[in-house]
Amino acid sequence: MNYISTRNALRTNESVSSACAIKRGLAGNGGLYMPTKIPQFKEGFLSSLLSRSYTERAAEILSLYLTDYTKDELLEDATAAYSKEKFPEGATKMANVNGNAFLELWHGPTCAFKDMALQLMPRLLSRALKKTGEDKKALILVATSGDTGKAALEGYRDVDNIKIQVFYPDGGVSQVQKQQMVTQEGSNVEVTAVYGNFDDAQTAVKRIFLDKTLIKEIGKAGYIFSSANSINFGRLVPQIVYYVSAYLDLVNEGRIALGDEIDICVPTGNFGNILAAYMAKKMGLPVNKFICASNKNNVLTDFINTGVYNKKRDFNLTISPSMDILVSSNLERLLYLIAGDIKTRNWMRDLRSDSGAYTVDYDTLRRIQEEFVGIYATEDDTKATINRYYKDCGYLIDPHTAVGAYACDKYREQNGSLRPVIVASTASPYKFASSCLDALGYKDIDGFDALYKLAEVTNTVIPAPLAEIKDKEVRFTNACTPSDMPSSVLSFAGIVKEN
Ligand SMILES: *Cc1c(COP(=O)(O)O)cnc(C)c1O
Repeated sequence: MNYISTRNALRTNESVSSACAIKRGLAGNGGLYMPTKIPQFKEGFLSSLLSRSYTERAAEILSLYLTDYTKDELLEDATAAYSKEKFPEGATKMANVNGNAFLELWHGPTCAFKDMALQLMPRLLSRALKKTGEDKKALILVATSGDTGKAALEGYRDVDNIKIQVFYPDGGVSQVQKQQMVTQEGSNVEVTAVYGNFDDAQTAVKRIFLDKTLIKEIGKAGYIFSSANSINFGRLVPQIVYYVSAYLDLVNEGRIALGDEIDICVPTGNFGNILAAYMAKKMGLPVNKFICASNKNNVLTDFINTGVYNKKRDFNLTISPSMDILVSSNLERLLYLIAGDIKTRNWMRDLRSDSGAYTVDYDTLRRIQEEFVGIYATEDDTKATINRYYKDCGYLIDPHTAVGAYACDKYREQNGSLRPVIVASTASPYKFASSCLDALGYKDIDGFDALYKLAEVTNTVIPAPLAEIKDKEVRFTNACTPSDMPSSVLSFAGIVKEN
């Protein structure tokens, strides 16, 4: 299986192996890597996985995409990534609440769903460096809206031949998220605040990846750039696994029969998680509709409803900060799958132009709307949903998951649909304890006080990885502007700039 760029790659003839796509992260022409074709489940494939463990299912599904890795390698990596030590309660859990199947993806080391991909991806990258005969070390740059940064730091810490630098928006992440990052241990890590929002940081990182002078300079110091953001295909494959696995669990629980269609609802930011679900469908998973749930930064739901993607709009800081995104990178992959590389390249050019917007053609919009529904939640909707689920069902959800739950319930109400819905539950409520408390009527309790209060109010236990960080030493206090990010990267790579 080879990988090509979403932007007109056929004409530049750049086609690379899966290991190479994971190593490079971003394609040379600014596009994102995609497999040349989506692998299909063979007859009997899904039923053969019913009795298998999560890691075995993972190895089988990963091997369909990562064809230059052996199944043994993939099984070994998945087993290490989703071990009892990393995921004491198992890789995923499903909670059946209010008629929805909440797929809890946050039982890993940083309490957010990003762990599902980022515990595995460093292992895939380590192998990719060897498989591609790379003699340089990888320097990973991450722009984070909060959760990716910590999950990537934790996944990559002290991995041989890899360094990682994380940029987070100053003031744009929660106190707990910030404390998780600035106390990160490891000899190969760097954490830097950026004066700007997530999009500023992400845009600057993408620019650095394509900057020929910088690439040369770090090359001389023995490094290549790589990415851990969901623009890297290595982030997406592990995410396909849990949708397939959740479906199989529903079959095993007798809630559906093999072959029955379900819906999938995903609280969405960069469009990575929902795209993974879509890819599972394209492989043959029986899915009817995808409910794309946005917060007040509703650029995606507007797009799904109108065909116009317009990033020129107010940026809102919300209580679901990991979804505070105006440029959803992975939407490019959906456009590529639906409309092809030439149209995609043109739309991405329009998006970068002064207009900051693109409009897809009627046929493309119709095809998107056949499979996607876009619904957004205001801040009040989100809080009311946290409150309602806790008061009515005794189930505490975080603000991101609440955006999904709101959209899901609204969709079912509008359609009278009885089809089971898998709702991606993307973070532990403790990661956003202050907002959860606020929604439950306990105002103005911040930071670590909120962790203790939430435990008291809901009679639940603070997850160990969050309980520990309060008293940890702060290691990183650096901050820079987006335009200073390149020099920050150079100095982390040990290069002193002369001028
Ligand atoms: C990253 C994140 C999201 C958004 O996921 P995307 O793949 O970027 O769409 C939603 N919720 C939480 C808690 C996250 O960390």
